[in-house]
Amino acid sequence: MEHRVELLAVGTELLLGNILNTNARDLSQLLSGLGLNVYHHTVVGDNPARLAQAVEIAKGRADILITTGGLGPTCDDLTKKVVAGAFGLPLEFHPECEQSIRDYFAKSGRTMTANNLQQAYLPKGCTVLENRWGTAPGCAFCVDGVHVVMLPGPPRECLPMFREEVTPYLAQLTQGVIHSRTLRIFGLGESGVEQLLRDKMNALTNPTLAPYAKEGEVELRITAKAESVEKAKEMITPVEQEVRDILGDQVYGADVTSLEEVVVPMLAKQGLTLGTAESCTGGLIAKRVTDVPGASAVLQGGVVSYTNAVKHNVLGVSQEVLDSQGAVCAEVARQMAQGARKVLGCDLAVSTTGVAGPDSDDRGNPVGLVYVALATPDGCEAVELHLGGAAQRRDRVRTLAANHALDLVRRYCISHGK
Ligand code: AMP
Ligand code: MG
Repeated sequence: MEHRVELLAVGTELLLGNILNTNARDLSQLLSGLGLNVYHHTVVGDNPARLAQAVEIAKGRADILITTGGLGPTCDDLTKKVVAGAFGLPLEFHPECEQSIRDYFAKSGRTMTANNLQQAYLPKGCTVLENRWGTAPGCAFCVDGVHVVMLPGPPRECLPMFREEVTPYLAQLTQGVIHSRTLRIFGLGESGVEQLLRDKMNALTNPTLAPYAKEGEVELRITAKAESVEKAKEMITPVEQEVRDILGDQVYGADVTSLEEVVVPMLAKQGLTLGTAESCTGGLIAKRVTDVPGASAVLQGGVVSYTNAVKHNVLGVSQEVLDSQGAVCAEVARQMAQGARKVLGCDLAVSTTGVAGPDSDDRGNPVGLVYVALATPDGCEAVELHLGGAAQRRDRVRTLAANHALDLVRRYCISHGK
């Protein structure tokens, strides 16, 4: 049987935009991992009439309703009363919950106030979901074929409770899992990826293949529905291979989050050290490399050479070139990289120089014109990038410039390792 899940988040703070409904995102991912289809996300404030209305709507279109929030001890915490009421259940006192709440307070050294006992009232006949991460217990019940699960709002309570208490409950209702592998692609836009893979994407139903654009990169998600995770992985692997055959080196990793996560181990494996000379990225490349554990085996150091004086005095960029061509040109990028390689004593050095915006530079170079260069024992190459357009954000130009620089390193490692 195909289940239809609705997530109902309760809390006025969500509607005011004070906090983001991260529970919806995180629970959806966990539910899809269980092979359950989430069809609706609903958000409603701490208002009994509108909450009751939302539950009525959910009853008509979902057979699994999961609520988050509103289980606490204060007067705006009305989820249990309203939701149980909508299914004709009264609340009853659970002495074992009272004990857990008293124990929790004793253990954390806090004094319990009387209103905390409100949390021990739960719908009659429900399964109690223990909360070892806070005080408000959750609950689950089934009325007229609709399964209802109520969880507290704070993510640090809601998510572990879902994993430990709700997953076994829901697993009985489902057959199969949904599992995904995400390939990350650099050097091709979303439409470029789609064009190359359109026929394949249309032909495939299980696994499915879907691209998503992400900050100058594309993610390609291969998703399989199968009876187990192992089986799903077996179905995904040949599709991944076909995609890699078509896109080649533009696929830089599977289930990784960034270029640096791939570049650092590549360099380490080949015993190569890296240095940076950064102007418009202001240290971002070095920062991103050092985000990766194990970076110390690879990164020698970095120079943030923002002014021409530092480019000349520290990195040895020719004053004549700086005067005649300005700081934003291929020759300066090359000399920065070569200079960094020398002063930092590393095998490879990357550099960036460009116009991050929002205004063009004093020579009239447009926002988004960036040169990145890579110096290696074999020579030095510079690449001219147009990341621009007046609408580009400064942080985006910098992120994309750093991506290109890291990708130059990655490509060098690929050819060097062959
Ligand atoms: P509650 O259980 O309604 O008292 O919520 C307590 C706190 O949990 C809120 O103030 C938020 O900080 C957090 N919270 C509640 N609902 C959500 C949600 N849907 N996503 C993320 N955080 C939430
Ligand atoms: Mg609340």
